[in-house]
Amino acid sequence: MCGIVGAVAQRDVAEILVEGLRRLEYRGYDSAGVAVLNNGELSRTRRVGKVQELSSALETQPLFGGTGIAHTRWATHGEPNERNAHPHQSEGDIAVVHNGIIENHNKLRVMLKGLGYTFASDTDTEVICHLVHHELKTHDSLLAAVQVAVKQLEGAYGTVVIDRRDSQRMIVARSGSPLVIGYGLGENFVASDQLALLPVTRSFAFLEEGDVAEVTRREVNIFDVDGNAVEREMKESEVTHDAGDKGEYRHYMLKEIYEQPTAIAHTLEGRIAGGKVLDAAFGENAAEFLKDIKHVQIIACGTSYHAGMAARYWLEGWAGVSCNVEIASEFRYRKSHLFPNSLLVTISQSGETADTLAAMRLAKEMGYKATLTICNAPGSSLVRESDMAYMMKAGVEIGVASTKAFTVQLAGLLMLTTVIGRHNGMSEQVEADITQSLLSMPAKVEQALGLDDAIAELAEDFADKHHALFLGRGDQYPIAMEGALKLKEISYIHAEAYASGELKHGPLALIDADMPVIVVAPNNELLEKLKSNVEEVRARGGLMYVFADVDAEFESDDTMKVIPVPHCDEFMAPLIYTIPLQLLSYHVALIKGTDVDQPRNLAKSVTVE
Ligand code: GLU
Repeated sequence: MCGIVGAVAQRDVAEILVEGLRRLEYRGYDSAGVAVLNNGELSRTRRVGKVQELSSALETQPLFGGTGIAHTRWATHGEPNERNAHPHQSEGDIAVVHNGIIENHNKLRVMLKGLGYTFASDTDTEVICHLVHHELKTHDSLLAAVQVAVKQLEGAYGTVVIDRRDSQRMIVARSGSPLVIGYGLGENFVASDQLALLPVTRSFAFLEEGDVAEVTRREVNIFDVDGNAVEREMKESEVTHDAGDKGEYRHYMLKEIYEQPTAIAHTLEGRIAGGKVLDAAFGENAAEFLKDIKHVQIIACGTSYHAGMAARYWLEGWAGVSCNVEIASEFRYRKSHLFPNSLLVTISQSGETADTLAAMRLAKEMGYKATLTICNAPGSSLVRESDMAYMMKAGVEIGVASTKAFTVQLAGLLMLTTVIGRHNGMSEQVEADITQSLLSMPAKVEQALGLDDAIAELAEDFADKHHALFLGRGDQYPIAMEGALKLKEISYIHAEAYASGELKHGPLALIDADMPVIVVAPNNELLEKLKSNVEEVRARGGLMYVFADVDAEFESDDTMKVIPVPHCDEFMAPLIYTIPLQLLSYHVALIKGTDVDQPRNLAKSVTVE
């Protein structure tokens, strides 16, 4: 899930590897390490904390050698300490870095211990290096040994293996966690993300699922899942900016809106295998914690609260458990009822949201069966104090108004829905459909971003307005709430969201030509009901902006502008309809000239009550 960099070169590679890790730092991690081969010697340095710690250690005691691997770790199995940091070793010969989760690590560990291997860490990863070491006893090449070893792994991996006795090559393998080969002149590289290698090459080939590749200074040989030699197209990278700066974008918020396809792809990496979301995506012992859960209590604030509200529809609708969602500042100061077998889920971008943290501590005292946090900041208080953590991997979010963190939270909560559903009678078909939907999200979000120009034009209509009403039904109601919050936060236009069925119970009184009404209308079973609500607004002279499925049969006229949204399945619809609403608030704020990235009176990480 975190960073991998590898190199085979004539020059010393430690510095290249560390620079590569630095470029992946934005993804979050807890420790870093590097291993290098030099004249039959395998040397390794690992440090807890920042890549800078590793880099300082290497300044004091440099590592020399032309073949090496490096890693930034986000711990899933075993504490974030130096012993568990990658690279891991077997018998001082084999060194391995790994992103992802090996699900059958316990079984393999018992088998390998039986063969006499001693384990030096608590990680799932360490089984890979002993397994390769063991297979090398009966196979004549590192490539063959890795090919046989990875067949025994269940779960998700992007892994790179080197052997002290053969410093000419590294073997890389991918299943569920991406790897890209970087081609140099007389030297070759590998990384979990091309960003890591931009200082040394711009020619890349992306490995496909099940690929194993042998990388030497002069050659890269790739084999598919069946062991057939294959070519993977080499492409010149067009990436021009680093993760931490605005690049071509005028604001961080816009950059982060556009980063959503990548952020969602990152959050899925290493967490889906064999068409299923892995339990361990939520932490090492998640399977044990989650198996008896019958009720979920979600606690969050602001945007994260809206993600939680959407998840309630999913957990009750598909996962077969009951679910409550509450704002943290309310939950922490009232007496609430504890249902049997309850899971407490906190959602927080920063992991330091004071109200959410206090609510979680209270829930622990109350005796919740387990606590899980959905969080973007490794090492944060919520992560440290919860039994389980779903690390969002959205990358740093700088804009105060959350965008990519929200959609990644939705993706994470949809994953949680399948994992909890699996223990509560969710059909295999629904699980497969949700998993498929998750995998196709990045491409669909990309399509939705294509609405940008049309929305920029639409935004002109809002610049002189003081109020707006957002409407949605079902799991689009929280999306309408999030749309209203975004508009409020950055354009300072007062916005309210209502479940559209609620219109007639009050808000209809507000409708006139000065109150634009924004409607989210995917093509779902509530569409006809929503259409009736639209008519209610029309009859009162309201002006409507309808974000509708291309097949929903809405037509623009004097009172209604229809913005066709790419067709998508019901599982991803809330996430997809979020995109145009984010763009709308951004463009309105741009026209109004507000401080988009740092709206007045707001802070990014709300660490006070
Ligand atoms: N599961 C491995 C570990 O806990 C790899 C984690 C990662 O992807 O960084 O060490």
